[in-house]
Amino acid sequence: MAKVVIFSGAGISAESGLSTFRDSDGLWEKYRIEEICTHGCLNWNRENTLTFYDARREQLSSVTPNAAHYAIAKLQEQYPSDIALITQNVDDLFERAGCKDVLHLHGFLPRLRCEVCGKTHLIGYTKQERDFTCKSCHGSLRPDIVFFGEAAPMYEHLYEAMEECQFLVIIGSSGNVIAMDHFALHVKVSILNNLEKSEAINERVYTKVIYKKATEAVDEIVLDVERFLQL
Ligand code: NAD
Ligand code: ZN
Repeated sequence: MAKVVIFSGAGISAESGLSTFRDSDGLWEKYRIEEICTHGCLNWNRENTLTFYDARREQLSSVTPNAAHYAIAKLQEQYPSDIALITQNVDDLFERAGCKDVLHLHGFLPRLRCEVCGKTHLIGYTKQERDFTCKSCHGSLRPDIVFFGEAAPMYEHLYEAMEECQFLVIIGSSGNVIAMDHFALHVKVSILNNLEKSEAINERVYTKVIYKKATEAVDEIVLDVERFLQL
């Protein structure tokens, strides 16, 4: 199991041009999270919800990984068995930077999921064909995204990874959706990198706190991880 867990949120993709929840941006401003990202909205607001994710896929096709994604990919390449990559992000920027085995806690935008059997189907950056059904069971398909109020089965793997973790890195997460402070208390070293303080994070439990853009903080973070792994 990996000694180092790199846990990321929307902030790491912000410099690629994908906005976080807090930033303002055309897409997030046009829709309310309760209407397109909450349990039940596929029932009462299905067309708008699917249209929203069509637009996000299109947007994803127009952005590229940034220096933070690439630096983490390089680090993972050097220490493949020591680094676990866990993200709340649904974009594929880590994968496009060359990262392997990224655990997506909240789903994956280029994928649809069968509402009946759970099988997933890659559609890349294309629009979801409304009459396209599951190849296995002909069930209806939905974006493979975990909405608020829905079960998040991948969280179990986060807890497993944190049992073995000795060095925790958090990049670009406000702590509002997943609280990580209690994990930071139980590891040897923890680094928090955000743009600014968050009310949902107790920064005193972290060994090091870096309030900078991820692309500016990542070299220092990589160096600290390398030193730790070379001990
Ligand atoms: P959040 O929007 O709640 O918080 C973003 C955090 O990133 C903030 O703490 C902010 O200080 C920090 N940040 C902003 N720009 C940064 C930068 N350039 N460098 C470093 N840090 C930066 O994000 P969250 O904690 O990930 O929770 C939001 C939820 O929204 C998640 O569940 C996620 O699935 C979803 N989401 C995903 C994407 C994506 O896939 N790219 C985008 C928006 C939202
Ligand atoms: Zn199916």
